[in-house]
Amino acid sequence: LDPQMQAALPVLLRLEEAGFQAVFVGGCVRDLLLGLPLHDVDIASSATPEEAMELFPDAIPTGLRHGTVTVRHGGRLYELTTFRTDGEYGDARRPDEVRFVRSLEEDLRRRDFTINAMAMDRSGRLTDPFGGQADLRNRTLRAVGAAEERFAEDALRLLRGIRFAAVYGLSFAPSAWRGLKAGREGMRLIAMERVGAELDKLLAGGGLARGAALLAASGLADRFKEPIPALARAAGACSAHGRGLAAPLQAASRLQRPDDGWAALHLLLGLTADQAMQGFADEAKMSFATLRFSLARQERLAAVLAFHAGVQRLGRDPQRDGLARLVLELGEEPVREGLAFLAAAERAGLAPQLFPAGAAPPAALLSGWLEQLPARTLKELAIDGRLLQRQLGRRPGPWLGPLLKRLLEAVMLGEAPNETEALAKLAVSWMEGE
Ligand code: ATP
Ligand code: MG
Repeated sequence: LDPQMQAALPVLLRLEEAGFQAVFVGGCVRDLLLGLPLHDVDIASSATPEEAMELFPDAIPTGLRHGTVTVRHGGRLYELTTFRTDGEYGDARRPDEVRFVRSLEEDLRRRDFTINAMAMDRSGRLTDPFGGQADLRNRTLRAVGAAEERFAEDALRLLRGIRFAAVYGLSFAPSAWRGLKAGREGMRLIAMERVGAELDKLLAGGGLARGAALLAASGLADRFKEPIPALARAAGACSAHGRGLAAPLQAASRLQRPDDGWAALHLLLGLTADQAMQGFADEAKMSFATLRFSLARQERLAAVLAFHAGVQRLGRDPQRDGLARLVLELGEEPVREGLAFLAAAERAGLAPQLFPAGAAPPAALLSGWLEQLPARTLKELAIDGRLLQRQLGRRPGPWLGPLLKRLLEAVMLGEAPNETEALAKLAVSWMEGE
């Protein structure tokens, strides 16, 4: 067993001691067999949610209707799900009703792919009724049961399939591939939030290039033309008649933070499409809003795109003042976001691709300059509004903001020292001059 599974053993034991069956299921079993690090450990058991809540009184009833409670143990959270079968799917999204069952095999049958339909007990014994282990060994993605039906039940499985194939380097079994193509209309039915979460996992798992190729080959890419045009274009670029973007997309696949992937995707496909950058920034913003990203996240992404445009203006031989102006224009935090992206792009070998003229100033150089700036924000300025009012003997008013900004600019551009007295004098001289 993996150390993370070891850590969860007391939860299994507690259930077993109470007479229930309890096993590890899903992604953790799959990743363990692949020799990959586990990110979360899911547990399934024959205990109903009520029975589970009795055994773990401080469990959080996160999804009682679907049989899920979240158990806290040793500082970690575990999803504990009751063995269940799914009832009818009325809307290709969620089962209308679930039925709790006492049999593990019945529970495994409702799962999407054979590689996800395995369970492991606490001694490491595998339950694998659909040949998931063999499929993993042969690098095959196969639906549990009739693929076409399974995709029709829940269209999210289309995207999950693409993700698993792309991230783990699996080939679709012929039946699964046919099912995917037959079910692609279902894409329209998936809530955009779920699409976003799935694509995030695709990006985090390094599956962008392979995923784009699979979207193209399956015809699923067409469904993205409207909501996420850059992704549809990426798919086009990976198909046989593409614009030769496959290599940069490969490099972009090495980015590990989903947001870096999203930014790179839009920058790459913006640049080669040879359209105005502004148009692409707007398009990117639309996509991120469509994917229901949080506002904070949308702002961070917009900052990275704005930073990229700004850095491009700095050119191949950037000056410290240029960076200072960028900080004045965008703000310190957005510049830090942008620098983190630039550094990640460098590590992925993607930086040259993001700057068509090859004018990518190294992130380390820009970061060094940022740290050296005598101030980056009004907070760091050696004078504040209150002091200025006192020095100038004026009441607070709309004159104050612009004056502070001007002082910050003077400090950041090296025209004045960041010292209270000098700044007060400078302000006085400006006011007298007007
Ligand atoms: P990862 O955690 O790496 O994203 P995972 O396979 O664990 O992958 P989860 O969303 O955590 O994915 O789901 C846990 C398990 O629940 C899956 O392994 C699968 O058995 C089952 N499952 C999840 N979503 C679906 C679905 N849409 N249809 C059928 N089974 C699903
Ligand atoms: Mg999981």
